[in-house]
Amino acid sequence: MIKAVNIHKSFGELEVLKGVDLTVAKGEIVSIVGPSGAGKTTLLQILGTLDKPNAGEVLVNGVDFSKLNEKELAAFRNRHIGFIFQFHQLLPEFTALENVMIPALIARKDNKKTAQKAKELLAYLQLADRMEHKPSELSGGEKQRVAVARALINDPSLILADEPSGSLDSKNKDELHKLLFELRDKFGLTVVIVTHDKDLAALSDRVIEMKDGLVLLTAI
Ligand code: ATP
Repeated sequence: MIKAVNIHKSFGELEVLKGVDLTVAKGEIVSIVGPSGAGKTTLLQILGTLDKPNAGEVLVNGVDFSKLNEKELAAFRNRHIGFIFQFHQLLPEFTALENVMIPALIARKDNKKTAQKAKELLAYLQLADRMEHKPSELSGGEKQRVAVARALINDPSLILADEPSGSLDSKNKDELHKLLFELRDKFGLTVVIVTHDKDLAALSDRVIEMKDGLVLLTAI
């Protein structure tokens, strides 16, 4: 599913990734942990085509990112990868339903079918009665579940989550953790999570520890 080989990334003089190798199998849930500044988010951004390595190779579903131009990368990202961020990043002027629909409309999918699917996803995430609300009218846990529905709208095979429970209270955190595993089982998704949350990491199939731009160890 994911194969990253010898990834290097620098921002100016700062060498952030110093030769990272990572392989993630289909259906696996992997957590990336490590101290602040270790390069976790940078690696996740590269796996998600949101940033490019200075050297090294990334393949997702057998597709080599270095062979795609910007337009193709954007299309690949929209089609295959769902993102969940710490701060949901919903668009404030749109309703929950509209926020969920946006990635599908960008992919030029049918409006009616997309609305139907977005409604089903929101209902599945227990948000049936919150669809017409704007983000400012939703609780933190609800906003994060809208963001999860948005991540799922294009049937991705890969979910990349950066501190997904970082801004949630313990109840919502537990629910989100359960949800990520349920999604893997229900949709056969592969999930890579960057987290400081030891509870979430402990639930994963595999924990990858990073420090100073390198993968330290892989514990099962
Ligand atoms: P945290 O746990 O605090 O989120 P992290 O392990 O995710 O940390 P990164 O966000 O990958 O770390 O950042 C690694 C280093 O790269 C940090 O020193 C950060 O300041 C730097 N960095 C990240 N993005 C950029 C950028 N766009 N421009 C310059 N420096 C950057």
